[in-house]
Amino acid sequence: MVAQVIDGKAFAAKVRAQVADQVAKLKEENGITPGLAVVLVGEDPASQVYVRSKGKQTVEVGMNSYEHKLDVDTSEEDLLALIDKLNKDPAVHGILVQLPLPKHLNEDLVINSIDPAKDVDGFHISNVGLLGTGQKSMVPCTPLGCLMMLRDYHGSLSGMDAVVIGRSNIVGKPMAQLLLGDSCTVTIAHSRTKDLPDVVRRADIVVAAVGRPEMVPGDWIKEGATVIDVGINRIERDGKNKLVGDVDYARAAERAGAITPVPGGVGPMTIACLLANTLTACCRANGLPEPEGLTA
Ligand code: NAD
Repeated sequence: MVAQVIDGKAFAAKVRAQVADQVAKLKEENGITPGLAVVLVGEDPASQVYVRSKGKQTVEVGMNSYEHKLDVDTSEEDLLALIDKLNKDPAVHGILVQLPLPKHLNEDLVINSIDPAKDVDGFHISNVGLLGTGQKSMVPCTPLGCLMMLRDYHGSLSGMDAVVIGRSNIVGKPMAQLLLGDSCTVTIAHSRTKDLPDVVRRADIVVAAVGRPEMVPGDWIKEGATVIDVGINRIERDGKNKLVGDVDYARAAERAGAITPVPGGVGPMTIACLLANTLTACCRANGLPEPEGLTA
């Protein structure tokens, strides 16, 4: 079997076009422009790239982008004061604080100070609880992107055996909740899982979110399974820098029914879902119907 490639780049472009369309309608029919505020503390190079890319794509879909760049030694008090201001600003529908934060800042405290209705990353404890209890919430962007691709490929996921490798708060756990919400039988595997190959071999859906280059070999993949590779790992091969996922793509693609590549799979979906979440937050804030197909 040769796997169908799930093209995250093309899918993300489709999501962005849908968002842009809805934003244009909101402006025309309701005179509302969704706004996303991104807060960056310090000068972490990777974070700077992400923030730039988020700002650019926000503007491209017709939304307002508000960037707040703060010094690396910004106090917790000043950061909380900015978040409070953004919470109260009616032009801001989504707030994202770029992680990781410098060590002297308490990440949990900062994230939980964001108004849950504006928490477009879906990391606020209220949104975690709402997702866990199957209620309307803001859903973390990366798992939401994975879910959209799975639904698009399979239609219904009901009754499928899914394994999520990795139990982080930003990917593994919310991904498992979303799959459960779509009636999969879900296993969460992690660094202490006893027989990972056996667990993976039973799965119809494998979501790998570990951060270890090609740690899932092709022969762990059940014939015809769908593989979603969240991992982004920089490696050096044949004297060149390369990005690879957590799955051995070439071997896995010989057995899987469908697979996401790295790069060009889950990665592009994350920012597209951030824009989708900002649109959703804006619609909810204004008592308008939520955009179809862009939420969990
Ligand atoms: P994390 O480090 O917070 O969590 C990794 C998880 O993997 C942990 O729960 C750990 O238990 C598990 N793990 C570690 N070693 C393992 C092993 N040998 N076997 C099984 N499980 C093991 O990482 P994260 O933030 O969840 O990110 C995971 C990967 O996804 C990283 O490569 C990250 O760069 C990538 N990522 C990509 C996107 C995207 O937009 N595509 C977004 C977020 C994260």
